[in-house]
Amino acid sequence: MSAARPWVAAILAAGGRGLRLGGGTPKQLRALGSTTMLEASARALLASPDVRQLVVALPSDVLASEHARRLETLGATVVAGGDRRQDSVARAFDHVSADASVVLVHDAARPFVSRAVVERVAHAAAATGAAIAAVPVHDTVKVTSPDDGGPVIVGTIDRTTVFLAQTPQGFRRAVLARAIALGRSGVEATDEAMLVEQTGHHVRVVEGDPRNRKITTEEDWAFAEQVVARVASESTVSHLRIGTGYDLHRLVEGRRLLLGGVEIPHPLGLVGHSDADVVCHAVTDAILGAANAGDIGGLFPDTDPRWKDADSVALLRAAVGRVHDAGYRVINVDIVVIAERPKIGPHRAAIAASLAEALSIEPACVSVKGKTNEGCGEIGRGEAIAVHAVALLGRT
Ligand code: MG
Repeated sequence: MSAARPWVAAILAAGGRGLRLGGGTPKQLRALGSTTMLEASARALLASPDVRQLVVALPSDVLASEHARRLETLGATVVAGGDRRQDSVARAFDHVSADASVVLVHDAARPFVSRAVVERVAHAAAATGAAIAAVPVHDTVKVTSPDDGGPVIVGTIDRTTVFLAQTPQGFRRAVLARAIALGRSGVEATDEAMLVEQTGHHVRVVEGDPRNRKITTEEDWAFAEQVVARVASESTVSHLRIGTGYDLHRLVEGRRLLLGGVEIPHPLGLVGHSDADVVCHAVTDAILGAANAGDIGGLFPDTDPRWKDADSVALLRAAVGRVHDAGYRVINVDIVVIAERPKIGPHRAAIAASLAEALSIEPACVSVKGKTNEGCGEIGRGEAIAVHAVALLGRT
């Protein structure tokens, strides 16, 4: 069964002063990585395409701040919250679009809500009228009564019946409207589900997420900073791509020896359809491979007369263009030139400078190393030169 996707408005309840974390700044406005807990919560809601509107209730003295402006940049409507959470939600609800079929209410102190949880709640609310995210309890739950020496157990609850409420909590528009009217009539509640329960509407529990933790204490804050740091490092790493390239050309008389676009004095030169610059070819394949953008043989086939005696530096530049088109830039390359003769050492700097120019990177990001083949095989006999290259790319 596939239900139509609901038109969802989300309310972010951030009107509280959040002083439990101490310090002068409300906790939802404290820096968390490169953002704030408030902004992270807003972005988490907007990560679902079902969420078409976001209304944020803020403390009134924050309305004119940079925090409010940044939320508006994300497309949010910013309104003044009230003294209690339910007042903030009621005020935000007044700004919810008439087109919304489902309204989600979310805590600004839950910045790690996943898109899956947001959509589970929204879809269950569309289907049943009211639903909240919640997680099961794994510890045994005791009911106590106060006593002189401390609480005394008076009963044990079947923990399979107990869930810890999270947000978002989602409601069909009319269901939440009735609950807010009840709240405005003087009924107090710690969450919207509680008001909806009192209107007589069943509230469905859907699977929440332990990571969707409410950031309340300093210990929670330390958890939040760890999550943000881990996500930041993962996203950096996932933007890196590595590629490898290899090439070999034979040395013959009567040809120029070009390595990385640098002409090197030598009695023999490399033979090939193009100018046979074996360094450029290996680097070209490494960067194309890293971007998964084809290979040199496919892009510049040696059966095509256009590439006869082609300038391999120009081919490398064309490959860099393709890599850029694929959304990547070259970060560094490392090259091993395997040649019995000539010695590569004296030419390393010139080759690195030439390649760096073609790759649009600093010469310090191009490493060129020379090796012999210890006299073994055709390379060892000075009949060929081979090159291995690796390239690292990053997202542009
Ligand atoms: Mg080649």
